[in-house]
Amino acid sequence: MTISHICGYPRIGDDRQLKRATEAYWQGDMSRSELEEVGRELRRENWQIQRQSGLDLVTVGDFAFYDQVLNTSLLLGVVPERFNAEDEIARGEIDLDTTFRMARGRAPSGQPAAACEMTKYFDTNYHYLVPELHADQHFRLASTRLFSEVEEARADGHAVKVVLTGPLSWLWLGKERAGESLDRLSLLDGVLDVYAEVLQRLAAQGVEWVQLDEPALALDLPGNWKAAYERAYFRLQATPVKLLVAAYFGALGDNLSLALGLPVDGLHVDAVRAPGEVDLLVDRLLPHKVLSVGAIDGRNIWRTDLAEVRDRLTSVAQRLGDRLWIAPSCSLLHVPVDLARETELDAELKSWLAFARQKLDETVTLARLLGGRATDEDESRLQASTTALASRRTSPRIHRPEVAERLAGLTAADSQRASRYPRRAEAQRRVLGLPLFPTTTIGSFPQTVEIRAARRRHRAGELSEADYAAQMKAEIAEAVRVQEKLGLDMLVHGEAERNDMVEYFGEQLDGYAFTRFGWVQSYGSRCVKPPILYGDVSRPRAMTVTWSAYAQSLTAAPMKGMLTGPVTMLQWAFVRDDQARAVTCRQVALALRDEVRDLEQAGIRAIQIDEPALREGLPLRRSEWAGYLNWAVEAFRLSSSGVSDTTQIHTHMCYSEFNDIINAIAALDADVITIETSRSNMELLDAFRDFDYPNEIGPGVYDIHSPNLPDIDWMVALMEKAAERISLERLWVNPDCGLKTRHWEEVRPALANMVEAAKVLRRRH
Ligand code: GLN
Ligand code: ZN
Repeated sequence: MTISHICGYPRIGDDRQLKRATEAYWQGDMSRSELEEVGRELRRENWQIQRQSGLDLVTVGDFAFYDQVLNTSLLLGVVPERFNAEDEIARGEIDLDTTFRMARGRAPSGQPAAACEMTKYFDTNYHYLVPELHADQHFRLASTRLFSEVEEARADGHAVKVVLTGPLSWLWLGKERAGESLDRLSLLDGVLDVYAEVLQRLAAQGVEWVQLDEPALALDLPGNWKAAYERAYFRLQATPVKLLVAAYFGALGDNLSLALGLPVDGLHVDAVRAPGEVDLLVDRLLPHKVLSVGAIDGRNIWRTDLAEVRDRLTSVAQRLGDRLWIAPSCSLLHVPVDLARETELDAELKSWLAFARQKLDETVTLARLLGGRATDEDESRLQASTTALASRRTSPRIHRPEVAERLAGLTAADSQRASRYPRRAEAQRRVLGLPLFPTTTIGSFPQTVEIRAARRRHRAGELSEADYAAQMKAEIAEAVRVQEKLGLDMLVHGEAERNDMVEYFGEQLDGYAFTRFGWVQSYGSRCVKPPILYGDVSRPRAMTVTWSAYAQSLTAAPMKGMLTGPVTMLQWAFVRDDQARAVTCRQVALALRDEVRDLEQAGIRAIQIDEPALREGLPLRRSEWAGYLNWAVEAFRLSSSGVSDTTQIHTHMCYSEFNDIINAIAALDADVITIETSRSNMELLDAFRDFDYPNEIGPGVYDIHSPNLPDIDWMVALMEKAAERISLERLWVNPDCGLKTRHWEEVRPALANMVEAAKVLRRRH
């Protein structure tokens, strides 16, 4: 019998119940026991859904009130000192409010303290809380939640498999305490002591299988980490449960032998991202081990071609027999919950999709097809999948010859500005007439309650198109007035009309679709609803020109056009999997190129193309970086190169690790780049200096995430530091990022100080 299971299920609920409950609890509108009850109810439902869909095992341990990596830290008793949790750790039960304080800095009870760092989980948009470690870290079993959850599931009569972040991946995701240096592997033994204890207890509860998530096996691992894998699992081998080591998010590559050789009972692999490794694994799998083949895409929302996957895995099933397990490639945490809720989505498009709930059915059916126990229902699902995939392959809504033709007609010259930067800079200086240390902002101004209310009413049909436009224009006019009064040199229109920087453009481009309930957890109670990029992309009409032209008409100062770049448009969406991402990206780039030209035509002299997601698109393996950066840079250049020398192209990126990708950043050849630097004390400009980065840079002089008013002298000092690294005439003065989350009462004085700082600098230089 081919076992079916999943690596994990979304915990937010099909109506974001978890978000609502945790936020209500934080605000004091819900009691602790009510919150715990919501958690219990969600788990119960999710297990029921798994069981009803026919999975052979239900997965316990994927629930978290905030984050599963944080849960593992709690299990290990890893709570930084500032949260004063010694007693709780000693008692073996860390309080839920301590968990929330670690995640958010505050909770209904307990002293506020600086929250733990949060960062993206591998190459996903999910954020985990970074385990904060130090050299004399103690480890001690300090949470019983997992065991209670196992009890709950068993009480409901489920066949339970437990999932936990594996010890090496947990350590890998951890970081030494600020200012310390630490070899994380020196902590491994202490970590393993607790894992051994956890596994013992699970065994005592009657758990047979424990899945240890080790996505770090899909990374380039240093030699000592590889060795540590052997050591760790050798140690855990002695425990009385069966271990399934789960690798996902990519190929095992050079870790394949290592993974195969671990002394465990089974291995789960990502057969969506690395289909080519399956046969190799089967050839070498020891006869007592199971292989869990992650054949259903856990990272994307497309319906599986069941016949194709079945055919591909038939020989594997024959060779492995009962030792073949079938699962999605990774936890379904990364996809929306239930497609059935999308009653407004067009039927044909809907037939091409599968969300978490639907992926359970696919998993079960595939396992039964391969295990020779297919039911009539499975046969009809197989049929339906084949029909849907056939329509997807040929639908004129996806495949639009005119888009392909335009792409085919492009030449290298299309991704190349007419002149090199020095010539352009000269031409732009003439046209723009900006002072030294020109001041600007990153694009958005506060999204006030009035703006949000207007958008809501407009969407609901309560506010006419004309009235909505009039109100947005009034917002723009006000933003222009404020900027002129402040004395900023290059203005923006403020993005009042935009809900979200990707959604706004996706809604206007052909090839994108939007769901109503397609929420995916981003971090804690925060969920995002990524658009679906399903078909060939084109731009039926100009998207931003009216707004920008209107804004420009109100002022003599240059008004920056504002667009979201092609890579970010891809990175923050569910992207079609039937053609290379590089091709899809070029299509988006081409649509943006038309917009850039139209803006230029309309008299806009500077256009910013934001690419905040460029870096996060980097593949997990270094060997794949160059390939990605090539097409990503090319796409940006395609979108930005259609203008004359005098039109100034800006880009913006809000992160601070440029060292690795500085040549790609330079290859973008944007005339001006604005970046986040204020928190790194301008040190990250070293990368630009060392590289001899040739174009202009606006290193953010203040952190927009902080409500504190930035000090003039402090900003001057930061810019002086910048001037030690970058020549004066190439420096701009601007905040770190957009201001949409701030209030005008904060923005006005902050920008006034920033403008003042620029004046001080001009007097000095
Ligand atoms: N132009 C966008 C803004 O100002 C940029 C946002 C971003 O970098 N994420 O809001
Ligand atoms: Zn930003």
